[in-house]
Amino acid sequence: MAKTTKNNTIKLNFDTKYAPAPESKASAKIDAKYDLFINGKFEKPSSKKYFDTINPATEEKLSEVADANAADVDKAVKAARTAYDKTWGKMPAKERAKYIYRIARMIQERAREFSVIETLDGGKPIRESRDVDVPLVANHFFYYAGWADKLEYAFPNKKIAPLGVAGQIIPWNFPLLMAAWKIAPALATGNTVVLKPAETTPLTALKLAEIIQESDLPPGVVNIITGAGATGAAIVNHPDINKIAFTGSTNVGKIIQKAVAGTDKKVTLELGGKAANIIFDDAPLDQAVEGIINGIFFNQGHVCCAGSRLFVQESVYDTVLRKLKDRLESLIVGDPLDKNTDIGAINSKEQMDNIVKYLKIGEKEGLDMYQSSCPIPKKGFFIRPTLFTNVAQSSRLAQEEIFGPVLTIQTFRTDDEVIEKANNTPFGLSAGVWTDKGSKIFNLTTKLRAGVIWANTYNKFDPTSPFGGYKESGYGREGGLHGLGAYLNL
Ligand code: ADP
Repeated sequence: MAKTTKNNTIKLNFDTKYAPAPESKASAKIDAKYDLFINGKFEKPSSKKYFDTINPATEEKLSEVADANAADVDKAVKAARTAYDKTWGKMPAKERAKYIYRIARMIQERAREFSVIETLDGGKPIRESRDVDVPLVANHFFYYAGWADKLEYAFPNKKIAPLGVAGQIIPWNFPLLMAAWKIAPALATGNTVVLKPAETTPLTALKLAEIIQESDLPPGVVNIITGAGATGAAIVNHPDINKIAFTGSTNVGKIIQKAVAGTDKKVTLELGGKAANIIFDDAPLDQAVEGIINGIFFNQGHVCCAGSRLFVQESVYDTVLRKLKDRLESLIVGDPLDKNTDIGAINSKEQMDNIVKYLKIGEKEGLDMYQSSCPIPKKGFFIRPTLFTNVAQSSRLAQEEIFGPVLTIQTFRTDDEVIEKANNTPFGLSAGVWTDKGSKIFNLTTKLRAGVIWANTYNKFDPTSPFGGYKESGYGREGGLHGLGAYLNL
């Protein structure tokens, strides 16, 4: 790959071709049609309507799923209420834990099938779904199963009671992982659930419904219904729901906030982000560049905590930019099922159009755009990884969430300057700091207004650690003990 030239600089050759290494689709059993999972059974929707879910990498139809209307939502909420009153709410905690452990083990047993379906339905590289999403899903169920019969130790000297029925609405970027983040703590604390996956990625949640059925979890404890915004709104507005847990866009978060105002529903909102990733001149630069790439380009930038704004200390700007461009050239964009692929498909045509809109805004604002020269498939939704330099703080690209493989790069000289720039957005979900100095890390972590701050790493998740934001990134925490507290009356 590397050649030493006459003047002793290293010339990198990224022409190396990798033989395709596609994961087999054989383990992915996808039915032609999916009904709603209500009260332990798959039921036809009273709307009688279905909609297609496609593979964004090929635009081929994978299956069709039911479009739940308000009557279907009502049925699911009634099933959840009955299960709460009659079985789940009364069950000894250690018995509840056994079911959650069982679900965790069944996910592990079918990990390959879940990974492949997640990749087919959502477009993320199989490496991500296999090595990150699905293992974390099982870990969340294991972690919260462990807490189920120890809640009095988690919250000493408190009187603990579940909330009742939780309505949970999740997005398309981590479909199964978001389902696990929501369902596992709800069950561990004795609540019952009505969950709606996003309309573009319903399949792994429906597969989870199959596991839940096989696990013999009492009927109605978890109900999984599919549909789009109107179905989500019917969940939010249902009068017999005690708690809404939402992950998605800031716009929909605001609608939900208004809808629940004046009710006694509890709410947690995990919304958008515009994370700053900050490289100081004393940072290990190669490691930092790899972290930046991982933070925004792997997973197509479809991560609310994606490190989408890079701040580089002026003295190392040229070096970092060169290293970033070199690394960008080596990224492979393409078939998400191929194990070599770094950047898979954009989740939907709508999302791709939105990203392209921002690329045009960047050009119109006069920013300098740099895209890798990699080939991209002709069919499906793909975007080359893109850098923007010469970015003003007021640029829309530095202020608005793009949710795609697009990185803006700005420079700074002092700690105070970068803290001010990093905090100057409406969001506050996450941030990253790259430096050799512990004191700098402590200084920044106390002053950056972000719910999660990674130091010398990025996008690392663990079930024991809480996650959530400030400002327009929402409120409430998921994960860890905080995630349990959000499903309890304390
Ligand atoms: P994204 O931009 O990530 O698609 P959305 O906020 O549009 O985020 O979608 C996240 C989830 O919210 C999806 O499951 C979607 O169907 C649901 N949703 C969309 N509109 C509404 C609404 N008005 N009320 C409740 N849920 C909604």
